[in-house]
Amino acid sequence: MLTAEELLTKRIAVNKSMVADPLILEALDLIEWAINERELREYILNFRNSYGVKQFLQTCDSNLTILRKFVQGAEHGTEIDYEWDYLVDYFTSDGDIIGYTEEDSNEINLNTTYLQRDLPEICNTLVHEFCHLVGMEHSFYNPGFTIWKQTAPYAIGQYVQYMIERKMGLDARPPFFPTATWGRRVAYKIKRLFKRLF
Ligand SMILES: [Zn+2]
Repeated sequence: MLTAEELLTKRIAVNKSMVADPLILEALDLIEWAINERELREYILNFRNSYGVKQFLQTCDSNLTILRKFVQGAEHGTEIDYEWDYLVDYFTSDGDIIGYTEEDSNEINLNTTYLQRDLPEICNTLVHEFCHLVGMEHSFYNPGFTIWKQTAPYAIGQYVQYMIERKMGLDARPPFFPTATWGRRVAYKIKRLFKRLF
């Protein structure tokens, strides 16, 4: 198993052999750049949620485990190959689902309605969906976007978007999560403690 330091530098490949769409290929090139930057890996390793805890929300995984899943590229628990393998398929809907993945397939399904957005946002969606393929989750119940945004798929996707926007010379701001009030922070820590005990 790679150490934390090795996880910060291990090269990740992006398999583009199963993708034909020029727009997605362009996105994958940018993603391959971003995911190999130490800056992104350090962001994952040092992520701190608004409750002051070094962990993404809605997961039991430590930041190190999340980074390991991200780097290892073992989709659905398949072999560790340090390569992101995925296929892309499309659907069209007026709804608010931008993309989705399924349990047993490496296919990322993209809503064509949302392909009109800027390239960095499409990269965000692709990285978010890839995080699902390697076992990162978030609840589908919407407890408010401030919570959702601090789950691994959302926060990592958002940070990649920020890095690519910056690289392209666009207006770019890193994801920011205001710190919860003292009372809410204590309540959160007690809740976590109880989860661990029982
Ligand atoms: Zn998702």
